[in-house]
Amino acid sequence: MQTMRTLEKEIPSARESPFSSSSVSLPAMGPRYALRTYGCQMNVHDSEKVANLLHHAGFRPAEHEQDAEVLLINTCSIREKAENRLYSDLGALREWKAAGPGRVLGVGGCVAQQEGDSVLRRFRHLDFVFGTHNLRLVPAMVEAARSGQRQSRTEESRSLERFDLPERHAAFEGSRPGQSFLTVMEGCDMFCTFCIVPRTRGREISRPAAGILAEAQDLVGRGVVELKLLGQTVNAYGRHDLRRGKTAEAGTLAFGELLTRLAEIPEIRRLRYTSPHPLFFDEALVRAHAEIPEVCPHVHLPLQAGSDRTLERMHRRYTVAEYLGIVERLRAARPDIALTTDVIVGFPGETRAEFEETLAVVGEVAFVDAYSFKYSPRPETAAAAMDGALDPVEAQERLAELQALQHDLTLAANRARVGERTEVLVEGQSARGERQQRGRDPYHRVVNFSVPEPEEAPPTGSFVSVELVEATPHSLIGERPKDRPELKDPLRLVDGREPASSMA
Ligand code: SF4
Repeated sequence: MQTMRTLEKEIPSARESPFSSSSVSLPAMGPRYALRTYGCQMNVHDSEKVANLLHHAGFRPAEHEQDAEVLLINTCSIREKAENRLYSDLGALREWKAAGPGRVLGVGGCVAQQEGDSVLRRFRHLDFVFGTHNLRLVPAMVEAARSGQRQSRTEESRSLERFDLPERHAAFEGSRPGQSFLTVMEGCDMFCTFCIVPRTRGREISRPAAGILAEAQDLVGRGVVELKLLGQTVNAYGRHDLRRGKTAEAGTLAFGELLTRLAEIPEIRRLRYTSPHPLFFDEALVRAHAEIPEVCPHVHLPLQAGSDRTLERMHRRYTVAEYLGIVERLRAARPDIALTTDVIVGFPGETRAEFEETLAVVGEVAFVDAYSFKYSPRPETAAAAMDGALDPVEAQERLAELQALQHDLTLAANRARVGERTEVLVEGQSARGERQQRGRDPYHRVVNFSVPEPEEAPPTGSFVSVELVEATPHSLIGERPKDRPELKDPLRLVDGREPASSMA
């Protein structure tokens, strides 16, 4: 399901979201806003863009939602559960809205794009609805709402203007030190039969490379060392232009070439991308994993199902053998690569035998982690009209079986790494307790590590060397090695600039 899966494990909840409020401290000025964000990383990044636009318009983040004069909900419609959450949130927010005259309530994201006016009609206390192509309108819509106008703006656009957003406000530099999302393409032309994304995000459109490279330059100037390239089918970047022989005219490149150009920016230490579609794993991309040290040894490679019949009904456009071929090529290019995936169980008509084929593929690939979901019919998708809906109890049992298998695979993969030394980009204090820090290694695994007395915790956004001493199903536990190079020269690894190859 590519980027549109609900990454509840990875994405901070609304109140923890980097742009919901608390991580940014600014002087008390301007009307205050809060943002609730649901769904995928694309949504998280859209919320960042909206927050930035509001900043440029003079708004400031509220410490708590209760203090906000403007509350925006960025929604997800990938599954029914996520959509229902919006309706329950809106019901509960009647009180919030009534508690302060002039308060503004807006809804954006995929549900907004899909439902438009009908959400506005259903919830009279809602002021406006903005679609996924209309982020730039948000500040003006807030102002209009403050003067009593209710409106819905969900027009689709093929314009590249959506990528031309104002410079990121300095207020956000501290929210996720060292890391940043970077949009390279939007939309999807794949029309998998279970997926609503082509309807909520529109058709595929690639951003000219010059804008991507300029934004990357701007970000490294602000201390970013890890870029995560975003797109619904991110490795389809530029493909339409390439096929038509119009890359020069459109300003795009092949995706592998884009990675090469980004890696040439000296300050960039890590490049990630999400989510690729298996269909677009060309040789250049596979080679990038072998030849470009900045391209991290992790690929999130959505499988969805391990049965050819189910894949065909899903309109995924690859077979199990083709998928396993990509796995083989990636592992040949980079033997230590970590693979994660998405799997849907209980797709209409999925037999027990087909489900067992999925279990077999998951076991064979030995994914390091997987996001697995029960199929949920979405309106206006082809699968919603298919026969063969699975009994919900059976679907739940299949999901539990798959998750038990994945639990064991994840634990085994984590245990196999105990004793290794890895490089962690520090994200901050770990929930495991005092003197515990948390970060991610090149394989995108969460690493918690202790900071021995009397050392100071390394700053967020810095790289540290960590020796892995323990594995849990959810993370790796580590310690700072005694012979680490930064003991001799404390600035070598903690200033965020030393090349990855210098790791002890
Ligand atoms: S239609 Fe298919 S490829 Fe496109 S976003 Fe949905 S799951 Fe991904």
